[in-house]
Amino acid sequence: MSEDLFKEATKPFLEAAKLIKLDKKIEEKLLKHNNIIKVDIPLKMDDGTTKVFVGFRAQHNNIRGPYKGGIRYHPNVSEGEVKALSFWMTIKNTIVGVPFGGGKGGIRFNPKEMSQAELERLTREFTKQIVEHIGPNKDVPAPDVNTNPQTMAWIMDEYSKIVGYSAYGVVTGKPIEVGGSLGRTAATGLGAFFVTQEAEKNADFMCKCVAVHGFGNVGLHYARICHENGLHVMAVADSKGIVMNKDGLDIPELIEHKKKTRSVLGFKGGKEISDKEFFGIDVDILCLASLEKTLNKNNVNLVKAKIVLEIANGPTTPEADAVLKRKGIKLIPDVLANAGGVAVSYFEWVQNNIGYYWEEDEVNEKLKKLMTEAYSYVHEVAQEFETDMRTAAYIYAIRKLARVYELRGY
Ligand code: GLU
Repeated sequence: MSEDLFKEATKPFLEAAKLIKLDKKIEEKLLKHNNIIKVDIPLKMDDGTTKVFVGFRAQHNNIRGPYKGGIRYHPNVSEGEVKALSFWMTIKNTIVGVPFGGGKGGIRFNPKEMSQAELERLTREFTKQIVEHIGPNKDVPAPDVNTNPQTMAWIMDEYSKIVGYSAYGVVTGKPIEVGGSLGRTAATGLGAFFVTQEAEKNADFMCKCVAVHGFGNVGLHYARICHENGLHVMAVADSKGIVMNKDGLDIPELIEHKKKTRSVLGFKGGKEISDKEFFGIDVDILCLASLEKTLNKNNVNLVKAKIVLEIANGPTTPEADAVLKRKGIKLIPDVLANAGGVAVSYFEWVQNNIGYYWEEDEVNEKLKKLMTEAYSYVHEVAQEFETDMRTAAYIYAIRKLARVYELRGY
């Protein structure tokens, strides 16, 4: 599945490139990765045995600035997956206008089966193995699936020990006490919320109810922000199950429940429903905030939502995408919808570089500006080419990247 993922990832790119008759030399450059780093990471387990894990860092393109993108811990991590994810980062960073290229990394394992001490040793060992490839002006990792501010603190600390100074700018998404930015944790969810507000301005309906697939850092904050703004979050799915309440779930209580039990299952303020029921719920927004290929040919026909919001990376397969188009369901693509995370990562990196830290309001104001502008630029292109938002997003990004190639020479 994983090599296919990169191939699939290039489909909208190729369509957009064709529409604007992109120079073939630039097309070739954007279809290939600058570096794919693969390392073996030996780890001493708590029981004294040693296991070896495989880790990757894919560096897609750095024509617009240092490689930038998360590191994920998941059993499905593979070369093909990080290739797709780093490619999307190049596109996303260009769309939201942050001066970065695209990177993504990960380690293939299940973090839920490891102790905190093992996680720390594994993270530090991985950092040592890729140390020459990362750096504040070279490649700046961040959290992704199953990694968090603590993971970033370990990477920053290990890197800093090796280079001999506190290099805060080597990663973003750090805890506040060690160079993190206020607003970073909720940024992807908040950015996605700003984007839907813009989408609503162009639609002939008001967004009142949502369903959220995925209740990790991103889906959780998106659901919380929707709830705080008076929207009904009718259903939430996580990897263990799905809960629904047609009058709207009490999200703060659900967050508490999830903290305690690590799942939404068993939540008293809602009833358990099946996957099938979930995708068929009549909501305004179906938010996909879990993993790749969530919406596929098996469930897309059930969808009744007016808008599909991709907060995860690559949650809709190309087949499902085509069905949504046919059904007239608007899709806000990942490379735009989830760019709020990396936007605030950029603000964090700027604050680390200047050593001066901003108030949360200032961060959120700046985030709102970037996201609403990005939405309106993509929307303009969609109208110009009479095309969907995903194709428009790629056209917008490719034009900007091509201009940089023209100016720098290629
Ligand atoms: N992992 C996030 C993403 O996929 C954030 C990346 C970053 O902040 O560098 O966009």
